[in-house]
Amino acid sequence: MRDMLIDWLARFDAVARPGPWPYPRVHHHEGGGHPFHLVIGSMVHGDEVGSLPAVVRVIEELVTGQRLHAGTVSFFVGNPEAGLQGQRFLEDDLNRVFMDDPPASHEGRRGALLRPLLDAADVFLDLHQTIEPTQHAFYIFPFQTHGWHWARALASTSMWVTRHPGTAFTTGAKCADEYVRDRGLPGITLELSQKGFGNGGEERAYQAITRALELSDAVAAGTTTLEEAAMDRPELTFLETVHREPFASEDLALRPGLQNFQEVAEGEVLSAPGTPELRAPCGGWVLFPKYPPRVEGGGYKKPLPGEIYRIVRAMGGHPVEVFAGADR
Ligand SMILES: [Zn+2]
Repeated sequence: MRDMLIDWLARFDAVARPGPWPYPRVHHHEGGGHPFHLVIGSMVHGDEVGSLPAVVRVIEELVTGQRLHAGTVSFFVGNPEAGLQGQRFLEDDLNRVFMDDPPASHEGRRGALLRPLLDAADVFLDLHQTIEPTQHAFYIFPFQTHGWHWARALASTSMWVTRHPGTAFTTGAKCADEYVRDRGLPGITLELSQKGFGNGGEERAYQAITRALELSDAVAAGTTTLEEAAMDRPELTFLETVHREPFASEDLALRPGLQNFQEVAEGEVLSAPGTPELRAPCGGWVLFPKYPPRVEGGGYKKPLPGEIYRIVRAMGGHPVEVFAGADR
């Protein structure tokens, strides 16, 4: 994994030109035809490397002229230093530090370098991967009307785990996509596949990026509108989180093998034998099951994740109606 990552980063560095941005692991392309600026994020979590080969392929196509793009697009590799260590992050989760007073850490400094780029984005697509296997790719971000149109038009997956537009992911922290949404613009997170190379992330990322490029140019050229492009694609399935189980103690452990989108019944035991019992309080699909590594002595590696798992379920109505008037 590390050798492949080193190779892909070298390929990125060989072609990438950061343009006006202060962070070097950026490629900036200006087609000169229109100013609409698409920003693509890769490896905001260091070990979610699967989108990098797609990012490199698209940059190589743009640089060699194999792919024409009239608008502006920037790609960034968020946390390769953590990726090279096989880690999600080194000191702080990079996807929590896009605030005015970031921590004095590797990720805090990286977030500050990336903010000018996010300030200039007209739409931001952040490419992530899940820790455990997943039965579906999925979008995950709060509902916003233009974000819905983008997500549906890109058709990268049919699943969107969404929530009320007014809810921050966590208080006292800010995600990259949330930073862009706070500017009133689409900030879209797409979970491609399980983390790593070769799990399907590359293909899905390539499709999402190239569709986003084509859509930006088509909308700028007036051959379609974002809304028309969205309505040409099937409607998404909207899911909401109905339960979050806090990672309340070191003693908790999930039963082996839970995957993202695994169906569970109300009352089903989700804990491992011999650990405090965790029963699903309602039926639905498991999301983000956590199996943190153990350290010597049997405890978990710190910091513990906030949740050990959550359950999602299809929303009872379309978010346009459910969240009517709350859009931002
Ligand atoms: Zn991630």
